[in-house]
Amino acid sequence: MTVTESATPATPTRWTAQWKELKAEVIDTGLCTGCSGCVVTCPHDVIGYEHEEGKYVPFHLETELGPDNCVHGEKGCTTCTRACPRFGAWEPSADMHLFGRIREPDEMAGIWQQLLLTRASDDMVHKMGQDGGFVSAMLIWLREHDYIDAALVSGVEDDDRWKAKPVVVSTREEILATAGSRYTYCANPLALPEAKAAGHERLALVGMGCQTSSPPTMWDRKAGKVAKPFLFNIGLLCSKTFDDAIFAELFEAKYGLAKQDMVKMNIKGAFQIWMKDGSFHEIDLKECHQWTRKGCNHCPDFAAEHADISTGGIGEDNDWTLTIVRTDLGVEVINRMIADGSIIARPAQEDEKAMKLLRMLSIVSRRRWPNDADPAPAVGVPPPKKKAPAPAPAE
Ligand SMILES: Cc1cc2nc3c(=O)[nH]c(=O)nc-3n(C[C@H](O)[C@H](O)[C@H](O)COP(=O)(O)OP(=O)(O)OC[C@H]3O[C@@H](n4cnc5c(N)ncnc54)[C@H](O)[C@@H]3O)c2cc1C
Ligand code: SF4
Ligand code: SF4
Repeated sequence: MTVTESATPATPTRWTAQWKELKAEVIDTGLCTGCSGCVVTCPHDVIGYEHEEGKYVPFHLETELGPDNCVHGEKGCTTCTRACPRFGAWEPSADMHLFGRIREPDEMAGIWQQLLLTRASDDMVHKMGQDGGFVSAMLIWLREHDYIDAALVSGVEDDDRWKAKPVVVSTREEILATAGSRYTYCANPLALPEAKAAGHERLALVGMGCQTSSPPTMWDRKAGKVAKPFLFNIGLLCSKTFDDAIFAELFEAKYGLAKQDMVKMNIKGAFQIWMKDGSFHEIDLKECHQWTRKGCNHCPDFAAEHADISTGGIGEDNDWTLTIVRTDLGVEVINRMIADGSIIARPAQEDEKAMKLLRMLSIVSRRRWPNDADPAPAVGVPPPKKKAPAPAPAE
């Protein structure tokens, strides 16, 4: 290296990317997850979103420059690309902001400090939760200990308990009414305007990795004051979500399982469904595959790598939550919850099956990230094992 090169200070490049670049790089290429980060941050309210079957993709509402460009972007507005957790080098950006370093190539499930299995100590919370009821217990705890005013979570429509919709919860009753998992998509950040209208200034966001990567990306890229209310970020491990059509076209049409009679569902190697008549059904995940929501096809983030705490249900026991504690704030809260008896916790490393699955499912998701996008999510991902060649036919 020459003296001239080393003495020249690097000029920071100005961030100029706007809707035009977002549409070309993320939406048109199929990288968009429908997380709604761009929608809720747009300072001019010109990004629309349809929370309907087969949609879940943002679109431009103004017609002046057509669907591919934005008048405000042409005048210098760049908020949407700063907020998007699939635009540019989003993974290093959120890593640096949260952890001060990028993940090591072998950190398939992202950066973490503690790996635990947890469950709510309160029987009612435990019973209402999908796995150990940890997420609901933590929301109740964060509210009671004045960390947050409210949380953005997934509720359901009044007339359809399996049609998810983004809602704001602030009381124990509201939190428990929205516990459990819906396996269709719910862009929880879309509840932000409702939270603001109610005067809530300190929020927790519950969501899959596609959603929980958004606040740290916004903070790192200085997307503006809209990122401020997100104080606590709770991730849900996730391989995919399904289109709502799966209820009518597969569960009902082929297996006669009516949506309104379903009381619980889970995904543990198969799609498991409990009906109100007490029957239990398992449907092969391969059969469900064709109803995978488009936005999940290229998603590399199984482990919700940019949450304060990420949670999942893999492992030997159905009634514990696998809990990945990532940030200092996450450690502070989990330690206080254990100390005051709000949750029971044990080391997750005791459950070898959960540890193996966490790594394996994280790798499987990372392999979906396309080669022509920013390379970071694919760094360190081992190639799929080659299948053994078929034995030569006997002579
Ligand atoms: C779509 C989806 C896919 C998942 N896939 C996996 C997986 O492959 N492997 C795995 O280990 N874990 C997966 N999980 C996480 C798991 O189902 C539990 O959410 C997690 O273990 C926390 O359990 P809990 O009992 O602590 O949470 P609870 O106390 O039951 O709280 C769950 C929280 O999730 C919110 N929520 C429910 N449905 C949605 C939704 N569709 N979108 C956004 N928020 C929602 C609820 O509002 C509630 O706040 C998935 C979750 C979802 C929603
Ligand atoms: S991934 Fe999220 S922020 Fe990015 S374009 Fe899609 S909805 Fe907008
Ligand atoms: S797989 Fe899960 S985390 Fe990824 S885009 Fe789909 S819903 Fe989001």
